[in-house]
Amino acid sequence: MVTTTEKDGETWFQCEECEMLFDVRADAEAHEENCDTDSPSYLQ
Ligand SMILES: [Zn+2]
Repeated sequence: MVTTTEKDGETWFQCEECEMLFDVRADAEAHEENCDTDSPSYLQ
């Protein structure tokens, strides 16, 4: 799930699964769809 958080007056979008931050909601949602918490270090 994507959550919003405010930091330094900016709104950030955070993947609740892995806590990665995005500055664009679409990017966060696209990431979240493919986020696999069972394999946290899958990207190489
Ligand atoms: Zn994620």
